[in-house]
Amino acid sequence: MENSAEDEKILAEAWEKLKLSCEKVCKSDEDWNFVRRAYFLAKEAHQGVRRRSGEPYLLHPIAVAHIVVDEIGLGVKSVVAALLHDVVEDTDYTVDDIERIFGPKIAYMVDGLTKMSGVFNADTSQQAEYFRKVLLTLSDDVRVIIIKIADRLHNMRTLGSMPLNKQIKNTSETIYLFAPLAHRLGLHAIKSELENLCMKYRFPDQYQEINAKLASTEVSRTEMIKRFTDPIIKTLDRDGIKYEIAGRVKSAYSIWNKMQRKGIPFEEIYDLYAIRIIFEPLPFPSEKTQCWQIYSSITDIYTPNPERLRDWISMPKDNGYEALHVTVMGPEGVWVEVQIRTKRMDEIAERGFAAHWKYKQESTSPDEDEFDKWLKKIRAALNSPSDNAVEFLDNFKMSLYTSEIVVFTPKGKTVKLPLNATAIDFAYDIHSNIGNKAIGVKINHKIQPITTRIHSGDQIEIITADSGRPSPEWLEYVTTTKAVQSIKAFLKSEQENNIERGRSLFEQAMERLQIPVSGRVIRKVLPAYNSSNKDEFYSKIGAGIINLDDLESILRENPKQKINKFWSLFINRSKGDDEDDLSEEDDEITPHDGDNSLDDEAEFVIAECCNPIPGDLVVGYRNPTTKIIEVHKSTCNELHRLAAQYGQNIIKEEIKWSHHKSVAYLSSLTIRGIDRVGLLFDLAQVVSFDCNVNMREINMNSHDGIFEGKLSIYVKDSQSLSHLMERVRAIRGVDSVKRIEN
Ligand code: MN
Repeated sequence: MENSAEDEKILAEAWEKLKLSCEKVCKSDEDWNFVRRAYFLAKEAHQGVRRRSGEPYLLHPIAVAHIVVDEIGLGVKSVVAALLHDVVEDTDYTVDDIERIFGPKIAYMVDGLTKMSGVFNADTSQQAEYFRKVLLTLSDDVRVIIIKIADRLHNMRTLGSMPLNKQIKNTSETIYLFAPLAHRLGLHAIKSELENLCMKYRFPDQYQEINAKLASTEVSRTEMIKRFTDPIIKTLDRDGIKYEIAGRVKSAYSIWNKMQRKGIPFEEIYDLYAIRIIFEPLPFPSEKTQCWQIYSSITDIYTPNPERLRDWISMPKDNGYEALHVTVMGPEGVWVEVQIRTKRMDEIAERGFAAHWKYKQESTSPDEDEFDKWLKKIRAALNSPSDNAVEFLDNFKMSLYTSEIVVFTPKGKTVKLPLNATAIDFAYDIHSNIGNKAIGVKINHKIQPITTRIHSGDQIEIITADSGRPSPEWLEYVTTTKAVQSIKAFLKSEQENNIERGRSLFEQAMERLQIPVSGRVIRKVLPAYNSSNKDEFYSKIGAGIINLDDLESILRENPKQKINKFWSLFINRSKGDDEDDLSEEDDEITPHDGDNSLDDEAEFVIAECCNPIPGDLVVGYRNPTTKIIEVHKSTCNELHRLAAQYGQNIIKEEIKWSHHKSVAYLSSLTIRGIDRVGLLFDLAQVVSFDCNVNMREINMNSHDGIFEGKLSIYVKDSQSLSHLMERVRAIRGVDSVKRIEN
């Protein structure tokens, strides 16, 4: 297939722009040749192929290369690998071909990138387990992961042209893995953009609302920033410092996150912006001293809040971040955060890893190996045996976000642990045998329970005994991956004995009843005994938690599943499922048409976590144990957790509500406002008469003139629910009306 003249023109322009960006990394003719060859090979390989949006496919690898060189600051090899990243996966070229043309290093990177996209497109294989293996590339070449993050960033920027199920899968993986990874690699700007894009697709209304509010307050904010910075500027100028100063507005995502976390409206977020001072340090005194000098000038003008002083210079975050954060009382009587950093620190903060490496090579300071330490930890975690890859990922994700405390051994050695770590974490960090035998702890010479939380500066001595053994409750007290894995390994060896015993007890019981053990039997007993899988079921029997006395009655009874019979499915029959699918056609079938992707036994339940009602955008998740399809709201948190871990179980078919008669769905609202006489009456009036809705329950609490209440009603669909919410919101005194999602 030939490219049209139009396409050729678009591509030529994109190539010219990429060449401009490459000027800062291409040092020799050889470099230029390398990039040029990669471009023309990719161009030939993707010839005639288009993205779903309709543009030539090649624009995607070009965009990824731009991100890699402009936004992350990587070099020539990474640009080449970015240009070639989809060639092996999508075209006839093999890794061997790439090696022949570009050498082993590039071939290795392209191979890693190909494997990674294999992971995310796989819907049958064990996504999580495979992902763990691929993460091992971290230990060999972090650039592979970084280019993959760039690839994901471009796909997120262009996610609008994807169908809903693809958007959900992508945003879930992004929020669950890519944003934490970017954070951990210190790619701050990319991490916030990824989070913002996720919010844009998951919560489009809130996203737009916050951005609109930010825009409408911009003028007054600019004035406030000016009033605040003017005196600082005068002082810095007087001291002859070379600097830039600017007000940085928080992203929609972080504002929204704070609103959720603190349960407050936009109007109550006072730290919408922070002031950032980036300066060019003099050769003497140290950068740290110069940062503190600026701190001193600022606190001569404004009063600092001693509790909100963060010195990330004396002890950088373990993703390499360095800066001095101080919060001062501004002229409007509002706390304002000021971040003080040098140019070098700023580059590390924005570009992370790449900048870190650049400065590391220039410096001989022994303190700059935080990143090495982290990589070592990751490598150890990845290599440690863990049967359940999903759990591993869960822990791994946790370890990406935590900030740290520093404690001391009895001999004064320092140990870094995540915030919220307990003495158990400490014990396992020293050695898994110490953890397994721990019975108590001396914290600063005082005996305490082993589950005690420890704090920066504590001196810690673990007390062990041969009779000591970990208990399952410990899992609630630990935060480090190492402790979790060691405790689980210990419990597992114990549990395996229980499983064997339980299995044989169950088989004996079934033999007495003369019923063969079948998949159907298992599907019936698991939920009845509150077990999510066979092993759990057997081990509970083995441990005596489950007794099988009522087994017969459970098997005989025909449970009325909460199956909803009001669905029909609109199936998107697209051929493949890869990111850049070209064709798509819709046709409608009912669930019992015997389509092979939805077997005869496909059953639907409404997920209890988010309780969707007709009209909500919904997505199906096939429970791997029960095979029942759980229908979640597309915004459901639980769904997104599941999608990130078991993406293969998200059903590809789009689920839509069918039209049906007079079924009402239970929905709940929380209402808040200012209490007044007659409010309850007005509320009942609106609900029962104006909206003709059946109320099931109403619960109101009033204190200090504020009322808070919960209203449970039966509604026909989401449209009548929003109508009702509008009406309730209009009642005098009512301040907020929210649907309870979980
Ligand atoms: Mn790609």
